[in-house]
Amino acid sequence: MRRTKIVATIGPASRDSDVLARMVQAGMDVARLNFSHGDLEVHAENAERVRAAASAAGRQVAILQDLPGPKLRVGAIENEIAELRGGDTLVLRCGSTEVGNASCLSVSWAGLADAVEPGEVIYLADGKIRLRVERVRSADGEVETQVEVGGAVASRQGLNIPGSTRGLQAVPEEDLEKLRFGESIGVDMVALSFVRSADDIEHVRQHTRLPLIAKIEKPQAVSAAEEIIRTADCVMVARGDLGIELPIEDVPLAQKHLLRLSGQLARPAITATQMLDSMVASPRPTRAEATDVANAIFDGTDAVMLSQETAVGQYPVETVAMMASICERTEQGLPYREWNDLRVRRDARDPAYTIAYTVCKAARELNLAAIIAPTLSGRSARLIAAHRPDVPIYALSPGRETVRRCALMWGVQAASMRRHEVTEALIADSARRVVELGWVKPGERVAITAGLPSGRPGTTSLMQIQEL
Ligand code: PEP
Repeated sequence: MRRTKIVATIGPASRDSDVLARMVQAGMDVARLNFSHGDLEVHAENAERVRAAASAAGRQVAILQDLPGPKLRVGAIENEIAELRGGDTLVLRCGSTEVGNASCLSVSWAGLADAVEPGEVIYLADGKIRLRVERVRSADGEVETQVEVGGAVASRQGLNIPGSTRGLQAVPEEDLEKLRFGESIGVDMVALSFVRSADDIEHVRQHTRLPLIAKIEKPQAVSAAEEIIRTADCVMVARGDLGIELPIEDVPLAQKHLLRLSGQLARPAITATQMLDSMVASPRPTRAEATDVANAIFDGTDAVMLSQETAVGQYPVETVAMMASICERTEQGLPYREWNDLRVRRDARDPAYTIAYTVCKAARELNLAAIIAPTLSGRSARLIAAHRPDVPIYALSPGRETVRRCALMWGVQAASMRRHEVTEALIADSARRVVELGWVKPGERVAITAGLPSGRPGTTSLMQIQEL
């Protein structure tokens, strides 16, 4: 069984029901709906199709809503594209909706003129174009820049300012509207773009009970990573924008730092962007890409993400299958024993950490077939997964949301079970359920974790080893 989870972005190349069915078959665990693009009806239809494909395959596939956050964009451009030449002057009109050209572009954010100073750098076109601010005319809402590195910019492409974005609303009102829409179509988790502090997560928590994924793509977020990861349910190393906002050579160390922290704090992590990028147009990845996926798993990622590859690429199904093969092969070489002992900062006041650590140790020493974790909130499964056991973790929960939430957790396969108030009944029913699901064979030895009093989240305090 593959342990590393696969997140695949749904787009024009993959929204066909037959393609989705084959992507589920190939190993997609989480379908990402990117709310920076596409209209709401299309997202609703995609969510429905993903659920139909998952249910036909008898697999759990969670739906992730990715909110755009305070992403800055240029406005419409004459003939959709402008060629900017090095040395030329380009004026940015802030808060304007005028159609732009090679000498003047409108920018969605009216506050831009107050946020930048002469000498600062602004990037366009995914970081390919570099502008240097020459003059700011705040009263006119204009920023005059010199094009340092030229290139083609298209209508509504992103704009990045690696420096401060003071005054830019952290969670735009449109994001909250999209969030309400996401809830209405039954998404299972929500990713927040351009998070800058833990307060941004707290703010959205007031509006939803869905699990929140903090996308780390600003230098400020890397500096505040520990607090952000603690506050969020999951973290995403969003290397696309991170690689524009930070010097590109800083990205590998930032990835390692973020994944190490997510392991220490026992929060699932996703590594995103350009993992198998060449498969947008080719049926095979490069050696470097295969190695990048493997290295992210060695760095401790729980999930790997596909963006363009499955959204607009020519080989969406083949890319998911290739990702699954690389994950499975890499998992054969992981330092399970070392991770079990050292990966998580265990909270000495909380027995759930001790149980999670001990059950992984027991699985190895007693050569158990699996760890079974009945869980109300998903927390026990998350803590066990963070300790990286070398056997499957089977999470059982009466909550549909919890079952789906497990889709991002490394090594966890989840299913529903009845709710129990008595611990003995919970353990007996868990043992029965995993055999019924065909996950464990009668006669195999497993460990089952449980809590007293049963039925209350956060009380995991015992484990039992038994032969089924
Ligand atoms: C990223 O920047 O890496 C990312 C995942 O975000 P988006 O695709 O929304 O730009």
